[in-house]
Amino acid sequence: MTNSSIGPQSAIDGRQSLSLLQRRIRLFECIGVGLTAVLVGLATLIPMYGQLRRNVDLAVGHHVQIQAQAVGHLFANFASITAQLTSRSQIREALEHYNEGRLSRSELEAFSIPRLRDALEQSPLVAGLLRLDREGYPAVAIGKTIPQALWRIPATDARTPEQHGPFHLLGQEVLIVSAAIVTREGLRVGTDIVAFDLSALREVLSTLNATPYARGAQVYLFHRADRRLVQFAPNGAGFVVAGDDPVRAALDGLPDLAAGTASVPGDGQRQLFASAMPKMEDWQLAVTIDRAALYEGVRRELYWPVAAIVLLMLASGALTLVAIRPLSRRIAGQSQRLALAASIFSSSGEGILLLDADRRVIGLNPAGCRMLQRQAEEVLGRHCCGFDAGDAVDADCAAIWRKVDDDGQWQGEMPLRRADGTVFDAWVSLAGVRDEDGRVTHYSGLIVDISARKEAESRIRTLAYHDELTGLPNRILMQDRLGHALRQARRARDRVALLFLDLDKFKPVNDSYGHAIGDQLLKAVAERLRLTVREGDTVARVHGDEFVVILEGIETPEPAARVAGKIVDALGSPFTVDGREIRLGTSIGIGVYPDHASDVETLIRCADIAMYDAKQAGRNGYRFFIAGNAPGGTVPG
Ligand code: GH3
Ligand code: MG
Repeated sequence: MTNSSIGPQSAIDGRQSLSLLQRRIRLFECIGVGLTAVLVGLATLIPMYGQLRRNVDLAVGHHVQIQAQAVGHLFANFASITAQLTSRSQIREALEHYNEGRLSRSELEAFSIPRLRDALEQSPLVAGLLRLDREGYPAVAIGKTIPQALWRIPATDARTPEQHGPFHLLGQEVLIVSAAIVTREGLRVGTDIVAFDLSALREVLSTLNATPYARGAQVYLFHRADRRLVQFAPNGAGFVVAGDDPVRAALDGLPDLAAGTASVPGDGQRQLFASAMPKMEDWQLAVTIDRAALYEGVRRELYWPVAAIVLLMLASGALTLVAIRPLSRRIAGQSQRLALAASIFSSSGEGILLLDADRRVIGLNPAGCRMLQRQAEEVLGRHCCGFDAGDAVDADCAAIWRKVDDDGQWQGEMPLRRADGTVFDAWVSLAGVRDEDGRVTHYSGLIVDISARKEAESRIRTLAYHDELTGLPNRILMQDRLGHALRQARRARDRVALLFLDLDKFKPVNDSYGHAIGDQLLKAVAERLRLTVREGDTVARVHGDEFVVILEGIETPEPAARVAGKIVDALGSPFTVDGREIRLGTSIGIGVYPDHASDVETLIRCADIAMYDAKQAGRNGYRFFIAGNAPGGTVPG
């Protein structure tokens, strides 16, 4: 036998698992809503953030381009001023004369300086000017002295001025612009080296810091030809020549010389913006800005969208929770009912059988397994009438299933065979389980073992109609059978004889040997009586030491006398009870239907009276009832 079962899983603690389930549903709801909001938020904010950053990059790039244009124009202006100086023909001719020795240096200075000053009046940014002769020696100088280290003498005779620098010159930052002084015929007669004050440039560049996103910007000038990188000091105190600066690497890496943006290598915190200067192909303006400062505004702009998304998320989360609450309650309710059903299935004392639509077993609970002495696995998938599992004995399975399908259910007694071959009485209820369309999807079966009940009923019946000591029918059953016999005899027109026995001197047996021996003697008497009469004749114990024998189907009273004689003889032989020999006698009164009485009560009374007659006559014999009360009459013949 086994307790194993298949079907709904073992019962779980309903309340605990229900609250756990509800908590889980709520958790999943929250995770779902939260996750959706985060994804929606990211899907919205990331492109928005990227777009805003691009906008900032564009704005800064544009600003840097404008700055580069301004610087470019300034530099172009320096070149133009220098070119104008070199092209002044009178001053140039004086230099030619000086070169040829026709003019002394003081004469040259006296002639040139006022004229050059005139020419430079429009250009307050010129810090100093040095005019070299054909051989490269100083001929004329105005303003600040330009040290020889800063002399940049163009290698060619081209008139186009060249810019160099910026350089620090006596507390000033200057850009050196040099240009060859060339005659109309194309002969080089000298060189002008002009130092331009770059304070104006500093002002131009300092406007960058005024923009909100470019605070803390660092500004560079990059000369691509001689790879000179100059940093414009943040405090405006002067230019610092940057040595091994990563900005140089970033500038080298830019694909487009005109304009571009890149991260400064090795310094993820800074972003570089660069732009070429118009008309100044060799020069680039570069600006690096701290990213945090650069995109701070962008992050500020995202505050409201983030707040809006959070609010929307909370609102939609609350709405979703409200919307799915009935659903979660329903799921929880269903789960509770399922747990309850599982609990009933596994803990029921009755056998519960589950079948599919083809009447194959899909589940048998532990009680069913115990009843049939089967493991649930053994019966799974087997066809069921009847249950191949615990074979129905003599059941009309086809008729039963017809009834289940027609009426929806069937119930009745069905003896079932256990695994060991024994049979027990079962009360079986079968019912069809239908879906919404009315189709049978499953069958359920309830098996109640009623063998104990039936045994008890049978025992009660036996106790009610039989004498407990001898097992013989009692007075009630005797009367019932007598009534039945009289009705039978009435129809058959024959006779019934009632022999009423009372043992002689039985009381002294009790007194001498004890009640227990008396009981055993009564049982032995009953046994002898049963053996003395025919099988179909009724022998009953009606009271104490009184017995009754009913003889049916006799045509005359003689057989009754014969049987009475046999009984007297049989009981007259000694009994051996518990090793003791006991002798008994019996007195028998005989009443005959229809001769003495025509009903049960009267016939018994007649036999009783006759029995007393036998006692009176000396006991251990029999007497027929004598009508008109003549006790003591013996049966003729
Ligand atoms: P009589 O010859 O006149 O019939 O006298 P008796 O001694 O047989 O006594 P009687 O028939 O008047 O009474 C029957 C006795 O049988 C009374 C009682 O002591 C005894 N008796 C009655 N029922 C039982 C029983 O169930 N077991 C035993 N051991 N004795 C019983
Ligand atoms: Mg007696």
